[in-house]
Amino acid sequence: MASRLDGIVIAVLGGDERELEVVRTLLRAGAELRLVGYPAHAELGGALRVPDPVVAVSGAQVVIAPMSNTDHEGNVKARLDKAVSIRIDNELLAAVSPETPFFIGQAKPVVRALAARYRLRLIETADVDEIAILNSIPTAEGAIQIAMQELPITIHGSRSVVLGFGRCGQTLARMLHALGAKTCVVARSPSHMARAHEMGLDCRHIMELHRTVPRADIVFNTVPSLVLTRKVLELLSRTSLIVDIASEPGGTDFEAARELGLKAILALGLPGKVAPKTAGRILARVLPGMISTLLGGH
Ligand code: NAP
Repeated sequence: MASRLDGIVIAVLGGDERELEVVRTLLRAGAELRLVGYPAHAELGGALRVPDPVVAVSGAQVVIAPMSNTDHEGNVKARLDKAVSIRIDNELLAAVSPETPFFIGQAKPVVRALAARYRLRLIETADVDEIAILNSIPTAEGAIQIAMQELPITIHGSRSVVLGFGRCGQTLARMLHALGAKTCVVARSPSHMARAHEMGLDCRHIMELHRTVPRADIVFNTVPSLVLTRKVLELLSRTSLIVDIASEPGGTDFEAARELGLKAILALGLPGKVAPKTAGRILARVLPGMISTLLGGH
């Protein structure tokens, strides 16, 4: 049964189509919403539109910032009503009561530091397993879509390397394998290597990366650390493609790639770009239950 949030005051600070899906669900669950950065819309009639974010968060029991995060200064870029500006700064978070759950996709250092200063319960939504695993589906589809668009060969029969075998790497490798790609997983943990083997995938330890990449048509990177260094990139064929989905700045030396004439694409925010409706439904399915649990099973 869906969680009920009757009378719970929730401030929603901007967002895109995904948060709109969340807003609709929270309204149905009975929450009292204060929306910042949303246009007047008949179906959101049950929510209060508040132009000032400080007013919106004052006394709120939960604050939701967008899945698409902020910039490095804390500015929320995603607003459906661009006339309203939202900055997650000292003044804003000082107005939030300590211990209030504060949701955001992935907090930039400035936001993380402020949340700690004002003792908020920071929940980085993009890293919640339940959400991250489901989000890996549109992410993997988006990464494969880029490869399809960029290369003159089919995914079927391509030599595809998947670097990292966490939530995104596993989904990506499974999809590539199902499409008929000659898929090789590069991982570092023995349990990931065992899982790749169980799935019928070729698998190499990360120490063997330099021996794996020379034959690749496509390298998909999911590791959020510099793994595709200049030394490794020098081994790639000039016709190969790198699709790096790891969070900014990715795991590729992009400057070296450019100098070597390699095509390397940092593909960020794929769920919101390729499947905003699905990504919104994922959030809308998970957030009400999380809020209810955080507020003590309201
Ligand atoms: P995850 O489940 O934590 O998986 C990360 C993988 O990288 C694991 O296999 C991990 O291995 C490996 N790894 C981490 N550091 C490593 C290192 N220094 N050397 C070698 N391997 C290393 O993360 P995820 O959910 O798959 O997400 C992967 C990345 O994609 C993250 O940066 C995430 O923010 C990003 N992401 C991007 C999009 C997009 O649209 N572009 C969407 C979703 C996620 P161990 O388990 O051994 O540590």
